[in-house]
Amino acid sequence: MIDTHAHIDFKEYNKDREEVIKRFFNNGGEKMINVGCDLQSSKRSYKLAKNNENIFASAGIHPHDADSVNKNSLKIIEEIAMHYKTIAIGEIGLDFFKGTTSREKQIEAFRLQIELADNHNMPVIIHCRDAHNDLIDILKEYKTSNWKGVIHCFTASWEIAKEYINLGFYIGFTGIITYYKDEFNNKPEIFKVINNIPLDRILIETDCPYLSPIPKRGKRNEPLYVKHVAEKIAHIKKISFEEVKNITSKNAKKLFGI
Ligand SMILES: [Zn+2]
Repeated sequence: MIDTHAHIDFKEYNKDREEVIKRFFNNGGEKMINVGCDLQSSKRSYKLAKNNENIFASAGIHPHDADSVNKNSLKIIEEIAMHYKTIAIGEIGLDFFKGTTSREKQIEAFRLQIELADNHNMPVIIHCRDAHNDLIDILKEYKTSNWKGVIHCFTASWEIAKEYINLGFYIGFTGIITYYKDEFNNKPEIFKVINNIPLDRILIETDCPYLSPIPKRGKRNEPLYVKHVAEKIAHIKKISFEEVKNITSKNAKKLFGI
């Protein structure tokens, strides 16, 4: 299993980080991507990656912190991105739900970081909430270049998923998908997305310490619990857990070159 979106550098793991890492790698975990969301966490991610063979890092500034994107901070992100264990730019994107930063500033910060990824031919890890139309419009402008990436923690409709897939993106699923039950005739839209999406476009992720999947919901999340996301996808697609595990690992390796 590859957890393609973890934040084990966060303070929630200060007391037992090593045990959390061990639990993952001793129980079927193959590789993990620790995702930066500001300068400090990008630095910490790289440090974790440098000290652990199977942990990789991304560097980037989250839309919540778009105000901090400027020449100097971008230069630092670029420096971290140049290290050998940094494999993506992210998480970057647009978040019009919380709106802690103006839309204009978020869009500017997103564009600057997309261009950074493009210049270095690196994949992007994208966070998007309540802003898919704007985000898709921006991505389409860059379609001629050959960058690639993942739409992390996807919860939108199949129509939107199709747009991203056509642009060449992978779709990342978190524990949120386990919150929906399927014993009713009225199936949630996310099941339609998972049913329709080609296997070669799926990634699994935890976004830990957040979004613990059932049966761990309400507790701190950790990379090992990515197995519950894989199990849910297997259940919805009516295929084996092994198949989901193998194909998502293959996808992650291909996208991130790990
Ligand atoms: Zn995240």
